[in-house]
Formats: sequence, C-alpha cells, structure tokens
Amino acid sequence: MTSVPEHAVKAWIRGFGVAVPRGATAPSPDGVAAAAHDLTGPLVVKAYGPGLVHKSDAGAVRLGLGSPQAARDAAAEMRAALAARGVPPDGFLVEEQAAPGVEVIVGAVRDPAFGPVLLVGLGGVWTEVLGDTALRLCPVTEADARAMLDELRGAALLRGSRGRPGVDRDALVRVMLAVGSPGGIVDRLGDGFTDFELNPVICSRHGAVAVDARLLGT
Ligand code: ADP
Ligand code: MG
Repeated sequence: MTSVPEHAVKAWIRGFGVAVPRGATAPSPDGVAAAAHDLTGPLVVKAYGPGLVHKSDAGAVRLGLGSPQAARDAAAEMRAALAARGVPPDGFLVEEQAAPGVEVIVGAVRDPAFGPVLLVGLGGVWTEVLGDTALRLCPVTEADARAMLDELRGAALLRGSRGRPGVDRDALVRVMLAVGSPGGIVDRLGDGFTDFELNPVICSRHGAVAVDARLLGT
C-alpha cells in the first residue's frame, strides 16, 4: 500500500476544480518561515512523513499561527516532539487557515464486488463518532449528490438552523462531482487506489475548501 503526500494530492485535485488552501512545503522550520512570508495568516503547519497518517493524533498539526516566526516555532517544536517519539518528519506543509464552517468528509472507497463508492458525511474529526454518512456507487450524477446531502441526519446543519446560516451547498456538490462523476478523480485513479479522502472539506456560505487530502494506492 502506498500513501501519496497530502500536498501532492492537493496540487492534483486542484486540476479537478477542488479548492484547497494556498500553501507550500519546506524541509525545515526556517524554510517554513520563508514560505510563510508569501501566505496570508492565520497559518497552519503540518508535519509529514512515514508514520504520520493521522496527523492530529500524532501532534503534527498546529492551527492559528499568526506570523512566519510563529510558524517556524511551531515546526521546530513539532520536529523535536516527533523525533523524540521516533517519527521524525520528512518536512512540513505550511498553508493558509480556511475560515470556520461545517466540516464535511467527501471520500471514495473501492468495494471489492461493486467498485468505487462515493461517501459524504458530517463531522471532520468526528466523522466516526457521528456515523452520519451517505453512500452511492460511482459514477454519480448531480441529482445523486444532492440526494446524498438530503439523506444526512444532520442535513439541517448544511441548510442552516438555529440562527446559523446555511453553507454553499452548490460548492459542496461540485466537490462531490469532482470526485465521483464520470471523468472525475475516482475515474482517473482507476484501479490504482483503495481509499481517497477529503476530510475535512470546510463548508461555509463562501464555498467549500478541502483542507486535508489523503490517497492510499494499491
Ligand atoms: P488529520 O486528519 O491527519 O489529523 P488534518 O489535516 O485534517 O489532519 O488537520 C486536522 C484538523 O485541523 C482538520 O480536521 C481541520 O479541523 C483543521 N485544519 C487542518 N488544516 C486546516 C486549514 N488549512 N484550515 C483550517 N483548518 C484546518
Ligand atoms: Mg483530516
């Protein structure tokens, strides 16, 4: 099983029209600070490397960094802590922090019998706890994607409720179609993937941004 680095997956999915945060990779904390000068804060720093699959569990994600200096310090702290635990990072991704919103997972898995299946669900890091997901065999149509969102128990979160505005559902539907429609990401991956996951896509009134991207190949 191979795992493609997050920044490479993000660069690739941009070509399918999926919005991702502006960002850059750097091998060292100093490189993080240099790269951060071209970005608009607040910033996020993530460490990457073998053994860093669930990054927040590993302490490999820092949010809300207000300056290049803060980004450098976060990277240096992370590098020291990860090295002490035997998982020294290969490098860092520094990127702009998306505005808050509803965190949604959009993913695809390959069913051995039926082929690729598109998944959408609520939750970001709480996806597994909430267990609120909808599935369809690929390829999906726009009508399928909209019906999947309506099926979620938490659909009201996307539509807006209790004084909170709804999100740009059309932007989320476009992400789902980028993944699961004919000629989309899943089609292009063909047999070469087992698990593709955008978790979370942060959805707000202003759009849908994929802030994490994971691709496991065969
Ligand atoms: P992992 O899923 O490997 O733990 P993520 O890259 O998903 O790591 O980061 C963990 C959490 O941090 C995300 O669920 C999201 O809430 C937040 N996050 C990560 N990157 C960004 C970003 N660029 N903008 C806003 N929030 C982010
Ligand atoms: Mg994630």
